[in-house]
Amino acid sequence: MPDLIDVLVVGAGPTGLLLANELGLAGIRTVVIDQLPVRTGQSKALSLQPRSAEILHSRGWLESIRTYEHATVPSGHFGGIRLDYSVFDTAFPFQIGVEQADVERFLEEHLATYDIPVLRGRQLTGLSQTAEKVIAIVDGHPDISAKYVVGADGAHSAVRKLTGFGFPGRDARIQLAVADLTFSQRPAGISDQWELPTTGGYLLPLRDGVHRFLFGGSGAPQTPVPIEEVQEAITAAYGPEAVVGEVRWASRFGDASRQADRYRIGRVLLAGDAAHIHLPAGGQGMNLGLQDAFNLGWKLAATVAGWAPPGLLDTYHHERHPVAAAVLANTRAQGVLTVPDPDIQALRAMVTDLLADPAANRRLAGEISGLDIQYRMPGGDAELLGRRMPDRTLADGSQLADHCRLGRALFVSDGWKERSYDGRIDPLTAAVDTAFLVRPDGYVCWAGDRAESLSAAERHWFGAPQHMRSTVHIGS
Ligand SMILES: Cc1cc2nc3c(=O)[nH]c(=O)nc-3n(C[C@H](O)[C@H](O)[C@H](O)COP(=O)(O)OP(=O)(O)OC[C@H]3O[C@@H](n4cnc5c(N)ncnc54)[C@H](O)[C@@H]3O)c2cc1C
Repeated sequence: MPDLIDVLVVGAGPTGLLLANELGLAGIRTVVIDQLPVRTGQSKALSLQPRSAEILHSRGWLESIRTYEHATVPSGHFGGIRLDYSVFDTAFPFQIGVEQADVERFLEEHLATYDIPVLRGRQLTGLSQTAEKVIAIVDGHPDISAKYVVGADGAHSAVRKLTGFGFPGRDARIQLAVADLTFSQRPAGISDQWELPTTGGYLLPLRDGVHRFLFGGSGAPQTPVPIEEVQEAITAAYGPEAVVGEVRWASRFGDASRQADRYRIGRVLLAGDAAHIHLPAGGQGMNLGLQDAFNLGWKLAATVAGWAPPGLLDTYHHERHPVAAAVLANTRAQGVLTVPDPDIQALRAMVTDLLADPAANRRLAGEISGLDIQYRMPGGDAELLGRRMPDRTLADGSQLADHCRLGRALFVSDGWKERSYDGRIDPLTAAVDTAFLVRPDGYVCWAGDRAESLSAAERHWFGAPQHMRSTVHIGS
């Protein structure tokens, strides 16, 4: 390993692995470490939300991940109340039922493309930074020096604690349990379809006759979940005819709700569960981490490569912190709605009625799917500004998403002659009403018809190019 690498990613969960792929795509010398000697193969998350599907598709990786798909989940949900994703302009108005372990497997194997090692059985135990670098102590030895370190090391993040990030919020008030089980006797009422959660428990079909059961556990946090406890909860929810055969994996979790007060201190950044924890309601945590990684990847790569304009790296916090704050709020609300108290169930009935209203559905479906995020950006009030660019067919018949594979920004117009921006922006032609500039993470950072304001946006997001050719506007 060189004396000084570009980026050390701590944690080979979905967040760290996607980030490392994004950095690899940009040619950044990256190393990933994880304390686990081998991947566990266990999955907390079971599905990709539409926006996560879009970002993985834009890099050409979704198709390989979908070979592991075990279900297509036609809708989202808010505390078990159905959300309709079909109102959005997306190729993926549904959840893709693929287990977290399979997402991780693909992302880890794909790192070989970039020669990025995942060093397993290596635990981060200390961290210090200077103005020039970060020194990581691994297994007690000052081992790896990097220009930047990203803590993608989960809810108990060592990076977060060692660097001194604040993590305000509250501890868990309720304890729940999850068990992946088989039935030795399965009543007819237990379906092989994905259904919405209820207040009594949540049973989801996985592969090979295994079901995931989420329920209100009766044991203490961090203690094993015995099969007797699982059986008791299954009996309460589905009657005595439902008999558990085998419990393949079981764990406890709670509704603690905390978020790092900032996502960057100097050369150290946080992403994924290291930056935010919440009740896993609505299927959001892994998806939030993947989208953190996608937001951070190109910005960190630009910073290491030396062309990032001032402040670019800090937009990671400014953009992603509010998104996770909203998820923390919606998961707290979902947690309340599933309490089997008659008064709360009256509230739940009202929320169910309200969500039948298209505007209300759009508001929550947009948040939970990740499709309706709008980042605050300078440059006017165009409707598209700060939003993800939905896929489009271009003049040559190709799709916009096909051009995102290299991880570069795209400039789409009806024929403007665009400058070469040192390979940072690829120009494309399409029959569009207005020209737009899309960042490498798929968000529109400029839309309009004036070359001067385009120049300002290019410099704002992509710095000053070394070798510029003139811009000629031959559009309208
Ligand atoms: C029961 C349950 C169900 C869930 N269901 C969903 C769902 O349906 N949809 C969804 O989107 N999310 C769901 N989640 C949340 C989701 O699993 C997490 O948000 C996701 O795992 C976060 O990914 P991550 O990469 O940020 O962190 P993690 O997956 O926690 O990965 C962190 C990695 O860092 C490593 N690490 C930790 N400390 C160190 C150290 N000191 N040195 C080196 N390595 C270290 C760990 O070994 C681990 O591999 C669920 C969570 C639970 C508990």
